[in-house]
Parts: sequence; structure tokens; C-alpha cells
Amino acid sequence: MEVIGGATKGHQRAIQLIDENKKFHQGALTYFNKCINDRDVGLDYHVISVFGSQSSGKSTLLNHLFNTDFDTMDAQVKRQQTTKGIWLAHTRKVNTAQELDGPVSDLFVLDVEGSDGAERGEDQDFERKAALFAISVSEVLIVNMWEQQIGLYQGNNMALLKTVFEVNLSLFGKNHNGHKVLLLFVIRDHVGITPLTSLRESLVTELEKVWSELNKPVECENSFLYDFFDLEFVGLGHKLLQADQFQEGVKRLGDSFALKNSNPYYFKPQYHHNLPLDGWIMYSENCWEQVENNRDLDLPTQQILVARFKTDEVAKESLDLFYSKYSGSVDQIMDDMEKLGEVLKNLKEECLKYYHERAYRYAEPVYLEKRSELVDRMKTEFEKTLGQSLDQLSGYLMQRLQKEVLDKKNQHLPFQERTKTLEKSIREEYLSAVSYFQQLELLSSMEEILQNFEEQIDTKIKQLKNDEVNSLVARVNKTITLRVKEQTIHYLSNPETDTWDKILDMFRKTVQLSLSKYEISEGHYDFQVGFTEEENVSVYKNICSKAWHVLNVTVHDYLKPDTIVSILRDRFETKFRYDEDDSPRLWRNEDEIDRAFRVAKEHALEVLNVLSFAATSDHVEIIPEFGENDHGEDDYYEDELGIQHSRHFAHILNELQKEKVLQQLRRQINLTVLDSKRSILKTTTA
Ligand code: GDP
Ligand code: MG
Repeated sequence: MEVIGGATKGHQRAIQLIDENKKFHQGALTYFNKCINDRDVGLDYHVISVFGSQSSGKSTLLNHLFNTDFDTMDAQVKRQQTTKGIWLAHTRKVNTAQELDGPVSDLFVLDVEGSDGAERGEDQDFERKAALFAISVSEVLIVNMWEQQIGLYQGNNMALLKTVFEVNLSLFGKNHNGHKVLLLFVIRDHVGITPLTSLRESLVTELEKVWSELNKPVECENSFLYDFFDLEFVGLGHKLLQADQFQEGVKRLGDSFALKNSNPYYFKPQYHHNLPLDGWIMYSENCWEQVENNRDLDLPTQQILVARFKTDEVAKESLDLFYSKYSGSVDQIMDDMEKLGEVLKNLKEECLKYYHERAYRYAEPVYLEKRSELVDRMKTEFEKTLGQSLDQLSGYLMQRLQKEVLDKKNQHLPFQERTKTLEKSIREEYLSAVSYFQQLELLSSMEEILQNFEEQIDTKIKQLKNDEVNSLVARVNKTITLRVKEQTIHYLSNPETDTWDKILDMFRKTVQLSLSKYEISEGHYDFQVGFTEEENVSVYKNICSKAWHVLNVTVHDYLKPDTIVSILRDRFETKFRYDEDDSPRLWRNEDEIDRAFRVAKEHALEVLNVLSFAATSDHVEIIPEFGENDHGEDDYYEDELGIQHSRHFAHILNELQKEKVLQQLRRQINLTVLDSKRSILKTTTA
């Protein structure tokens, strides 16, 4: 796009912000950046635009007032039409009466160039659009008019003002938030015959009349002109005929733009759109697009959109900065929690500062919302890293717990006591690490983390307790097994009629003794592992049941028919071959042998029932108190060698087996008798 005017004035030349084809200048941002040249302008800038009929001296005024270089239709190029569009110039130099001590705030001046009224339809459309645009983006709207237009001519100016008012209502009527625009009426060629006060009066009357006749939307039917506009009036002398007054007037006008303490001062806070300069460009482009497409212009929404876009852009940059520094800062210090916390906190602050500096001037809710999104994104990253670091810590704490619980020097303490203090100390250590990170505001919530840790402790304690119980139960079982086996076989290999009383007695005592050594008992739960009553009963039952199993297996394994035969035979032999003093008998005759045989046989058979059926001496069948008799429905079960066992503890030999035992015994003892008889024969024949 063409750039015109004073290239040598030391400032950026005006650009055609919106060209004759109604296109927005794509280099506008670059232009702005050149104008501000890296200064942090923030909200300290102002936008002014001008309205008025063609060739009413608008551009001339602006150039005088703001040292701009808008194209004017001066004498030399009188025939040339200025280029249509909306022109934008930047200035920090205002022509003032009072001395300034430096450049003023950045001013952006919009000059609207319409056409000469030849093509009315097209022209009105552009003028309306230009009005809409100027009002939506500027703080002060200069309405430029000739003195003689006032009261005399309803013409262009009032028609344009009507447009301005209507446009304004459609823009702000719905959504009035205290925002106002200053309408500055500059009366040109004010020669001074009619005083400014009466010109002002008739203008105000005219304006109020226009306002009252306006078609207002329902929601602002009762609104006043002054709800939306402040009005100021200034007269300027004839530029050619009263050159000095003209120059002086311009300078006084300049004071009101440049000096905050001048009266009046034109830039009031409620005129500003409160967008930082870089957002203003986007905002004005959006506004133009909406105007050009004849869409409803919703300015507050536009401002929010711009704020969203800009804060988003800055947040992205800030995140890029964050990620670019992240792993480099963290990788080396994963083991050092304190340092890790500090580094992450600093990185977070650095990135938030970056964001703040560039985004804080945008609409606060948007700024805050985006900031908290940014914080969340960073926290997600922190949580991963700190999660790893905390996992390391908890792994180490669990190891310590296990080591201390299993440590020999603590074994004299009951399990419960050993773990209680330890649990407390590792819990405190973990909590202090998590709270440290929480204090630095690096984590969103500690709850879940702490709960996970509690679960880990629980699992670990359960596992340790389980190990402890298992090893204890194994120890008790081993003691019981050894003794029960040995004693049972001892009793069974030398059976008497009260053998089962003795076995039962031995068995109960053995079990009780072993259990009481570890304080396990039925119903009593002050057990050193720290059992609940339920656990205590279950361990008690488990041990008793295993003991009964050992007894069962020992009895049934040992008392096979052959063994029984040999036990009975032993018993027979002892009685038969030895006298009361355990001296071997010497037989004198067969009668003696027969008598001894009968006595010994009876003696042997005395215990056959004892060995084939387990019952107390008062004939009560022995029934295991735990386990053994309960399993399965069959009477027999097979062991790992495929041998059938009676499921009923007491049943050792059935009748058939008993018969066979008797038969075998008979054969064997008959042989013994025969041998004995032969020995007599030998001694007598010798
Ligand atoms: P614009 O179309 O409103 O921007 O008007 P210009 O600034 O281009 O000026 C149009 C013509 O009016 C030029 O020939 C100027 O010399 C002339 N002009 C500028 N200012 C004044 C003024 O204050 N009084 C009079 N009578 N003529 C002026
Ligand atoms: Mg002009």
C-alpha cells in the first residue's frame, strides 16, 4: 500500500489502515512496532479520529495539531482527489501553547477520507462503516464543521451525526458498561461574531433533537445522549484570513490533548478500551471485519476475544520457555529434594513473570483464567517429576521399615510395637517432603499422594506381618510335628490298653505348650504379632488342625497291618520267651510251653483292638477336634503315594484286615511254639 507525505519529519508516515477497497492493512502491526520502537507503551496510548464533510479542512487540522502528514487538498493539487480510505498516523508531538517537557503519550490518529459526494450511495455506505469503525476504536471523535453549517444547514453534518448516534446505540446500547466517547466539535472559520456559547447552545439543541428523534432499540429507549457521549466545543479562526488566531486556537486545542492538568483534558479513563497496544491492532481489525460484513458489533465480546487470543499467545510462549528449560534444570538434581523444589519454584516464577509482563493489561478475568491454565500445565509436569522423586523416597522408606522390623536387635519387641514407632517416623518424613513441595505451590493436591503412600505402608506392614506369622507358625508346627511323631510312635510300638489316653494327653500338652510359648490361644488375643481376635483364632485353628493332621498321618502311616502283626508278635514273644524278671525261659516240657503260649497269645491279643481302633480307655472314639474329619464326603482319601487312608481318624483296621493280622500272627507264633518244642526235644535227646 502506498505511503504518502512527509518522509523527513522523523516519524512514521501515515498508512492507509483501511484502503479504498475496504481492506485492512496487513502490515499494521509492523507499523505499530516501528512507531513504538520497543518501548513498553502498555495502556498509555490514545486513539483519535476525525469526522466531517469533504474538504472541510480535517486533514489540515490534524497535521497542524499533531504534526502528522495526512494528504490535504491544498492549493497546488486542488484538482486531485485525496485517496479514499481510513488513514492512520502516529505522533508524540502535539502543537501546544504551553511548553512541554518532552514527548507526549503515543497518539494514533485516524483520518477518514470519503469521496466527493458524486456517488452518494456508495459514499453513504462507506461513511457509515467508517463511523462504526471510528467509534468502536477511538476515544475522541473530532466533529469538524464550518460555522455557517450550524443552524443553517441540516445537511451532511447532522445526517452524519444521526448515523453516529444510531451506530453508537447499536454498539453500546445493549452492553453499556460506563464506556463513553468524547465528541469534540471543532467549529472552523469561527470568525467570532457569534460567540461560541450560543453556537454551542444551538448545536446542543440540535443534537438533543436528533437524539430524541432517533429510532432507539427497546433496551435503551430511555437512554440519554450523555449516557454515551461527553461533548466539547472549540472554535478555530479562519486559517487564511485569521492566520494568527487559527494558529493560536490550534495550540490551545493541543494543550487539551497533551497536558493532563489542562482544562479541559480530553483523555478520560472511561474513553479508553483498556487493551494493550498490541491487542488494539487485532481488536481494530476484528472490528473492521465485523463492520465490513455488516455483522452486529459486540465490542465487549471483541475485547474479550482479543484478550483470549493475546493471553493465549503469551501463555504459549511462556510454556515454550518452560519446556525449553525444564529437563536441563531438573535432570541432574532428582536426588536432592530441597534443591529440586527450589529450582522448580524458580522456573515457575520465571515463566509466570514472563506471562504477567506481557498479559496483565488484558481483561483481568481472561488474564487470570489463562494464568491458572498455565500454572496447571506446569504443575502437571512438576507432578511427574516430583512423583518420581517421591517414589524414590517412599521406596527407600519402605526398605528402612522392613530392615528395622526384621532387625535382630528389635526382635524382643512384639511386632505391633516394632512397627508403630517406625510407621510414625517414616510417615512424618514423607509428609514433610510432600508439604515442602506443596508449600512451594508445585503440587495441586497432597491428598492423593498421601493416600497412595498410606496404602503402600499398609501393604508393606501386611506383608511383613504375614511373613512373621508364617515363620512363627512354621516354627510351632515343626516343634509339634517332631514331638508328636516321636512320642506317638513310641506309645504305639509298646501299646497298652490306655495307650490312646497317653497319646491324647501327650498330644494336647505338646500343642498347648507350643502355642503358649507364642501366646497364641483360643479366644485370647494378646498375641505378640499384634493379632486381632479373629486372626488369633484363625492362627490357632490352623496350628491345631495341622497338629491333628500330623497325628493322623503318623498313626495311619505307622499302623499298617504288617507293623501291627510285628508289634503283636513282639508282645507275644516278650511274654512267651521271658519270665517276670526278663530272664529267658528254659522249657522243661510241652505242657509248660502250651501254658505260656496261651498266656502270651492272650497278652498279645489284648492290644489288637487298641491298635485297630483309636479310643480312650473308657471306649470313647477319638475324633480330631480340628480339620481332619471334615474334608470330603468319601470315607477314604488317597495320599500322594496312592495309598488309601481312612478319613475317620479312629478307624485303623477294618474287620477283614483284623482277620488277616490274626491269621499272620497265628502262623508266626505257631512257628515260635514249634521252635520251642523242638528245642526241648534237642535237650532231651542230647
Ligand atoms: P479535508 O478533505 O477535510 O481533509 O480537507 P483538507 O484539509 O484537505 O482541506 C481542504 C481545503 O480547505 C484545502 O484547500 C485547504 O487549504 C482548505 N482549508 C484548510 N483549513 C481551512 C480553514 O480553516 N479554513 C478555510 N477556509 N479553508 C481551509
Ligand atoms: Mg482529508
